[in-house]
Amino acid sequence: MRLPCLFQLRVLKEAFTALFKGSYTSKFPFEPLKPAPKFRGRPVPNEEWCIGCGACAEVCPPSAIEKIDDPETGKRKITWRYDKCIFCGQCELNCTTEKGVHLGDEYDLATFDRKSSRDGLEFELVMCPCCGDIIGTKKHILWLIRKLGPLAYGNFPLILAGYPSLQVKPSADRSNLFSLLCPKCRREVLLFDEYGKET
Ligand code: SF4
Ligand code: SF4
Repeated sequence: MRLPCLFQLRVLKEAFTALFKGSYTSKFPFEPLKPAPKFRGRPVPNEEWCIGCGACAEVCPPSAIEKIDDPETGKRKITWRYDKCIFCGQCELNCTTEKGVHLGDEYDLATFDRKSSRDGLEFELVMCPCCGDIIGTKKHILWLIRKLGPLAYGNFPLILAGYPSLQVKPSADRSNLFSLLCPKCRREVLLFDEYGKET
């Protein structure tokens, strides 16, 4: 008679163990499945902590995060598209505020309507008053001021943008000096203020 090999013995042992311990598989979809603690499911944006900076859209490997700016309405939309997401966790790992998005434990995201498979937030944009270029979101600028703390006082347009109640009224010919400008216009305004001529 042929003796059982080591592999067959191991399978037999597991079969007997399963008789007492119960099955290893779950009964999903008939019973809800509780994912493991570090499971990476649907990325959920956090309205309180997301500042709309768009850093997550830059690092998302399959471009599943859309950052759309509309200068007409002065709004930015950040949208997570779950039909393209690969649940890698890069958006959470590289979030500027570290709490703007979190991969939750929701995994059952199958749908017939791709348009319903997304979530997002909307932000108010700050535009350069000289050239109209987009500087960033208002929430991002306010977050920067809070993050910098007393260091923010080294940049007076930043402080005036963050605290409009300070009510500084600059003279007409130097008004742009006190405005929050894009880097290109800021450079030109500062040089004009210093040397009195266009660059
Ligand atoms: S705050 Fe975080 S989640 Fe929000 S847009 Fe910036 S990087 Fe993305
Ligand atoms: S988990 Fe990965 S693929 Fe999904 S939105 Fe975040 S960065 Fe993109």
